[in-house]
Amino acid sequence: MSFLFDNHGRRINYVRLAITDRCNLRCTYCMPEEGIKLEPKSGLMTFEEILRMMHVFAGFGVNKVRITGGEPFVRRDVMDLFRGLAGIPGIDTLTLTTNGTHTAPHIAELKELGVRSVNLSLDSLDRERFRSITRRDEFDRVWATLEALLRHELEVKINVVLMQGRNDVDLLPFVALTQNCPVSVRFIEEMPFNGSGANPAGGYWDWKRIASAIQESFPGLYKVEDPPNSTALHYRIPGHLGGIGIIPAFSRTFCGTCNRLRVTPQGVLKTCLYDDGIFNIRDLMRAGASNDALKTALLEAAGNRAKDGFEAESRRFSGLPVRESMTTIGG
Ligand code: SAM
Ligand code: SF4
Repeated sequence: MSFLFDNHGRRINYVRLAITDRCNLRCTYCMPEEGIKLEPKSGLMTFEEILRMMHVFAGFGVNKVRITGGEPFVRRDVMDLFRGLAGIPGIDTLTLTTNGTHTAPHIAELKELGVRSVNLSLDSLDRERFRSITRRDEFDRVWATLEALLRHELEVKINVVLMQGRNDVDLLPFVALTQNCPVSVRFIEEMPFNGSGANPAGGYWDWKRIASAIQESFPGLYKVEDPPNSTALHYRIPGHLGGIGIIPAFSRTFCGTCNRLRVTPQGVLKTCLYDDGIFNIRDLMRAGASNDALKTALLEAAGNRAKDGFEAESRRFSGLPVRESMTTIGG
């Protein structure tokens, strides 16, 4: 098998698929209240196209796939896609990121299909703050999903985008949650992908500030080794069942070991979170490209990859400020 390496010697073995730009929540850091201009359904990659693409990627040694969005579970029949992906030889790590509002009925089958870990987005432990951040009153359903995931003994990572004056009061309660709850809580630096081009207001919670605020109240906090290619800095607190992660998504300290590609719902390949797309896989397929032609295009994209998120940002065709919404990127 030939592996996919980029021009900086990084092996790519992980693909993140945003399968829809639709979402039932309106998180302020991700989307404007009125939503974003949606791709017509005919423009979204079909499941057949996604599975064909993933067969090609698996032939390059890609073994890990994450389904994200938008919200994966607003796409009808999404379980068909999970079933198809679980059957691709070479894909041994199938996972997802979800807002947890429509996830619970599918947990048992996801586990049967081999999903071992789920990232659940939950930005507050307070129902009212959750409502004000997501603009929807869905806290109870998300919490029920968290409980169901734990009952099924799946590994759970809770994603928290930490924002000045919005949910920073939740920082310590989330850390306290890890005492008796076997979850990994990951605090994510806010990125500018909110669909409006506006920068986050007020003070900024970068990874250093997050770590020192936790340390102040939990002096036992200590750093543990990060797994290879991880984007999170991992910490533990003595006596706590769960762990803590901090994701320097805006500081971009992790680019040197980046092993992932992203594909948007429209089929645009992104070789970096901060680029604005390299080429369109859907269009190539719909124009009749063979798998060999797809492979050639992927090799070329990998061979011209930005070294880090700062370089990718500087190469954007559409310039700055970034006006994309994370709902088309997938996180
Ligand atoms: N809807 C699903 C969810 O919310 O989990 C999956 C898609 S969502 C775009 C994926 C992840 O991106 C979520 O954990 C979300 O918190 C994160 N995210 C969205 N916008 C972000 C931003 N501007 N900065 C940092 N993280 C962001
Ligand atoms: Fe939807 Fe996820 Fe974006 Fe929130 S972060 S609006 S749940 S896609």
